Amino acid sequence: MVSSCYQRVMLKITGESLLGEREYGIDPAAARNLAQKIKAVWQQHIQVAVVIGGGNIFRGIAGSKNGIDRATADYMGMLATVMNGMALEDALIKAEVPVRLQSALTMTSVAEPFLRKRAIHHLEKGRVVILSAGTGNPYVTTDTGASLHALELHCDVLMKATKVDGVYDADPTTHPQARRYQTLSYRDIVTQHLDIMDQAALSMSMDNDLTTQVFELFAGDNLLRAVSGEPIGTVISNHVETKFADEPSKK
Ligand code: UDP
Repeated sequence: MVSSCYQRVMLKITGESLLGEREYGIDPAAARNLAQKIKAVWQQHIQVAVVIGGGNIFRGIAGSKNGIDRATADYMGMLATVMNGMALEDALIKAEVPVRLQSALTMTSVAEPFLRKRAIHHLEKGRVVILSAGTGNPYVTTDTGASLHALELHCDVLMKATKVDGVYDADPTTHPQARRYQTLSYRDIVTQHLDIMDQAALSMSMDNDLTTQVFELFAGDNLLRAVSGEPIGTVISNHVETKFADEPSKK
């Protein structure tokens, strides 16, 4: 058993994590892989809440650029997150992990309505809780849903699992010289206009002192290492100095 400094974590997973080798939609093998990673954390008796995105299916901003009313497009994006939530729920059930799917948009045939106290009850009972449909409101993304739910469920940390191994000062796929931050203060995200999460998520996390850790989901046992308190990826907080990973430590 790993020794964890966290009792309850919020895991934000982008919809792209369910793409697998596809360019669109859900690859059941990717969902199974993800379920195994969550199971490894659950087996450590760490309470896990998951906010899942929908970008593998639909993002409101893209829909609105193509002429759909922005709010309508955002609701469509939220529906995409419910589909992803159902796929992950199915994979977790098959992995024999107790799980409940909740949705911030009411659709009781497929998901419980989001109820904060009920979600906490599930977590206390050792069930993984998947929170779909983000905040239930348009004009934000699931980053805001993750920040909001992490705060109201009293999670110790927001784990933001991505395709890259942390936050860089430029896109590392197009800028080979890009540098990874080991630690990053919320203040520097604001002053340097770094585009890491949506603005609502940023101010909510900063104002309410929620630590966010950004790391690569599918690299080895990264998720388990992160929830065990290893500072892999980039740790974002009000209580750190901004520092690049390749910077020598100050004496
Ligand atoms: N969305 C929304 N409100 C929310 C959460 C999500 O309107 O509280 C919509 C928004 O259009 C967003 C889409 O759902 O683009 C899918 O979520 P997101 O883009 O965060 O997915 P991810 O990038 O994490 O896969």
